[in-house]
Amino acid sequence: MEEVRSYSPEFDEEIEQKLRPSRFDDYIGQDKVKENMQVFVEAALGRGETLDHVLLYGQPGLGKTTLSAIIASAMGANLRITTGPAIERPGDIAAILNDLNEGDFLFIDEIHRLPRTVEEMLYSAMEDFVFDIIIGKGPGARSIRLELPRFTLIGATTRIGLLTAPLRDRFGVVHHLEPYGVADLKKIVTRSANVLNVEIEPCGAEEIARRARGTPRIVNRLLKRVRDFAQVKFDGIITEEVAVSSLDKLEIDKLGLDSVDKKILRAIIEKFGGGPVGLDTLAASIDEEPGTLEDVAEPYLLQLGFIQRTPRGRTATNLAYSHFGLENFRESGGQMTL
Ligand code: ADP
Repeated sequence: MEEVRSYSPEFDEEIEQKLRPSRFDDYIGQDKVKENMQVFVEAALGRGETLDHVLLYGQPGLGKTTLSAIIASAMGANLRITTGPAIERPGDIAAILNDLNEGDFLFIDEIHRLPRTVEEMLYSAMEDFVFDIIIGKGPGARSIRLELPRFTLIGATTRIGLLTAPLRDRFGVVHHLEPYGVADLKKIVTRSANVLNVEIEPCGAEEIARRARGTPRIVNRLLKRVRDFAQVKFDGIITEEVAVSSLDKLEIDKLGLDSVDKKILRAIIEKFGGGPVGLDTLAASIDEEPGTLEDVAEPYLLQLGFIQRTPRGRTATNLAYSHFGLENFRESGGQMTL
């Protein structure tokens, strides 16, 4: 009999770990980025050097952390993971850097959120592998120079535009991760189903892939929920019918839009007459954080061409109106519910 385990966050974390590919061969899609990184890794290994600092940018869930772990592992190196907001003071980054060994990788997620004072300390660390610490205050203050081991910094960000030029320029390799196509997401969900020991039919995999908004993290999340429906309401196998029925129940529509996206579009159309409406006003009107709206929901709505960014704010496009059958709404000026 299979071991029965009750749900716990640790258990979910364990599943995450299992689903995360650990070798280039299992990292699906992003072919150009992957090929380039493999060349840089092989070249650095061949010369016996550390890898240049790498900056990865793209929406959440596209595989920045996963790729970083694969790169470090291919270099046979350790990876330390931290995030920009967790490093509050120069002392914090000093402690982290001081703890690194020769060849180690340091991954800083959300690197655009590093405090400026910390960021400035990173410049010499990245360029010359030294770190200047100021001791004391006022005229008696003096600076001590710490030698650091040669390390590789991998920075990840969803907002490349918020990175300062001096920091961006210190990365030797900069790659943009793009949203994934349905074919790649289908491969990812099929591989994940295999890892989770769930039987999935190609049409079922394709249906989940179609509704995953181009994002591996979402395809895996949908798979886990569809698996629950398959097990409880059906015979355990994820067929097309099972996928369609489960995703409909989860209120994920054919394009992958969920209730938050609908709330956003409904607000722009119904509350703000189609826009333009500023991000903060829009976020406040639906009780969401502006950051979540901008990083998580908006990129996909922009990609679908459902909203546009104008200097005066966001507007809903004709495509958005027609997706919800509201072509005449603009003219009628009436109230309708999506
Ligand atoms: P990010 O750091 O960009 O937010 P992650 O690296 O945490 O994204 O990826 C989220 C999840 O998606 C991972 O746990 C992994 O299982 C899956 N994943 C991401 N990229 C890929 C890929 N190229 N191939 C297979 N699975 C992937």
